[in-house]
Amino acid sequence: MDAEIIAVGSELLTPHRSDTNSLYLTSKLNSLGIEVRFKTIVGDDAERLGTVFRATFERSKLIILMGGLGPTEDDINRQAVANVLGLTLHEVPEVIERIAARYARTGRTMPANNARQALVPEGADWLPNKKGTAPGIWIERDGRIIIMLPGPPHELEAMFDEQCMPRLKDRVSGSQIRTRVLKVAGLPESEVDERIAPIYKPYSNPSTTILSTGGAIEVHLSAHGATQQEADALLDELTEKIEPALGDHIFSTSGETLEEIVGMYLVMKQKTLATAESCTGGLLSERITRVPGSSEYYLGGAVCYSNELKTRFAGVSPKLLETYGAVSKPVAQALAEGIRRKVQASIGIGITGIAGPGGGTDEKPVGMVFIAVADERGTEVREFRFPGDRERIRLLSSQFALEMLRRRIRN
Ligand code: AMP
Ligand code: MG
Repeated sequence: MDAEIIAVGSELLTPHRSDTNSLYLTSKLNSLGIEVRFKTIVGDDAERLGTVFRATFERSKLIILMGGLGPTEDDINRQAVANVLGLTLHEVPEVIERIAARYARTGRTMPANNARQALVPEGADWLPNKKGTAPGIWIERDGRIIIMLPGPPHELEAMFDEQCMPRLKDRVSGSQIRTRVLKVAGLPESEVDERIAPIYKPYSNPSTTILSTGGAIEVHLSAHGATQQEADALLDELTEKIEPALGDHIFSTSGETLEEIVGMYLVMKQKTLATAESCTGGLLSERITRVPGSSEYYLGGAVCYSNELKTRFAGVSPKLLETYGAVSKPVAQALAEGIRRKVQASIGIGITGIAGPGGGTDEKPVGMVFIAVADERGTEVREFRFPGDRERIRLLSSQFALEMLRRRIRN
């Protein structure tokens, strides 16, 4: 069974509210093996909703509409859906009683327009709303299921979990969707795709998507199977083929972030870490300390933005700064070695670069970043030219610093 979702609400077409309900529903539907094929957002307009719903009804077996069940004039879902299906609405006394009782419990009387919420298309079931007033609606027609849910997320979630999930479970023949995410560091998206496209292209199940998120590349695999085991076996098969093509650039296959993986290695090897950051302004430190338990290995760091503090906090010699400039290989090295020595850490990291948008020259353009990792075996320094704006350059700097660290401690 494939599903389609229609979110109704003019506010969802503005930059102020986003449609989060459909994400919730998609994850629940996927857990039943139901794939969502389309999502539409429509404003509070009966005619446009009618047009969308008519098209939806033609192509999908399960249609979920949400929002637009309130008591006011702009709540048009019931009428719009009934019109397309040629059904009349009738008032359900039990629903009115329930809404009136809900008002009575809080010492209020029910406003007359709430009676609109008791209108249900003929032949449809209504779904009680434990968290609010508007009941949901369940319609079956021409082999299709149409579910209408209230918009407020806590009402929708409770109603869907308690009343829709069990009914849907009965309808689907035990099909399962399982997903796996391979996280990749140190390779650009295009190269990841070049390496693995010939491997995944022949497969339609699992399906493969490559996403770039916050400096990491993610390969998302999604498999259908009659059982969980069958879907997992399909994922295993494709994963085993992809892994050799990406080698040790894959840092996680079960959801961990790069900073979590680095943390696990540091604990395992019983190493401590200190950082001296210039252009990232503490972003690396922030990412490292996002991980619960990072106090076990992360001693701390310094944000050495000015030359003076590079000297005072990390012991970088003024002569070095004068000779090579703050953004240079020797200064990155001195930051890493200096902070390591000052706080007696097993590993020190130094970052210096030009995040822009100003400050670049022909010789040292915006995006030029030097990252150094120092430990008892010596210091590795790499030069990078990161693309993008200030925020992206800073993010990529923190990402590659973590990646250099990961490679260093793994070996
Ligand atoms: P309604 O049922 O249309 O009166 O919606 C009531 C509340 O639920 C409003 O505050 C909406 O912004 C919120 N809401 C409606 N649809 C969604 C959605 N798809 N995702 C998140 N919130 C929603
Ligand atoms: Mg609304």
